[in-house]
Amino acid sequence: MAIAACAPGISALRAQPRKLKVLVAGGHPGDPEYGCGGTICRYVDQGHDVALLYLNRGEKTCPESPEQSAANPRVAEAKRACEILKARPIFAPQCDAHAVVDSARYDEFRAIVEAENPDVLFTHWPVDNHRDHRAIAMLSLDAWLRLNRRFALYYYEVSDGEDTAMFAPSDYVDISSAEPRKRTACYAHASQSPDKYYALQDQIARFRGVESRHERAEAFTRHVASPTGLLP
Ligand SMILES: [Zn+2]
Repeated sequence: MAIAACAPGISALRAQPRKLKVLVAGGHPGDPEYGCGGTICRYVDQGHDVALLYLNRGEKTCPESPEQSAANPRVAEAKRACEILKARPIFAPQCDAHAVVDSARYDEFRAIVEAENPDVLFTHWPVDNHRDHRAIAMLSLDAWLRLNRRFALYYYEVSDGEDTAMFAPSDYVDISSAEPRKRTACYAHASQSPDKYYALQDQIARFRGVESRHERAEAFTRHVASPTGLLP
């Protein structure tokens, strides 16, 4: 099923007459790009709207003012990466390595998702060595449940071994042609050791490509109760 879903010419998405809204949630600037950058390119190329929702701005301590936050180089890197991908950046107001999951944060995160009204939401796989990644997985799942499961929910992998663990994909997207743009967007996060982390992520993309018979692929796990047929 997974391989068939990626085969040329039979993508259900291509038959979609309407423009989709796609939301890619990540714990930090760079996570959506590394985990889903090729898939984002595929959506954009098909005319769909994509936004990258970062749980924080990569700041170890919360900024005391918007001006402080605007001076953060990681915000500039994220904006540049979004320009390359032709996507929109959105920042949730949490802090790096200090993610909070409580009722107020659930409501706050759900309000952001609800305002975007996505057709598809991508988020981190919840078994992850980084607590911010685990947090956004929970925040995303809660938003999806509270919004009546009306959009597709997919989990993605990032920096397997270092972050994601025990990931078992259900679906694959061929990103072979999109890889150069994905790489450029990931390298826009110049402060985050892209030589190390892009090499790791590209190993993953090559392996997922072996599994799905493409040069490179990104892999996802679809929530079993979410709509199907919305991958590019
Ligand atoms: Zn991260």
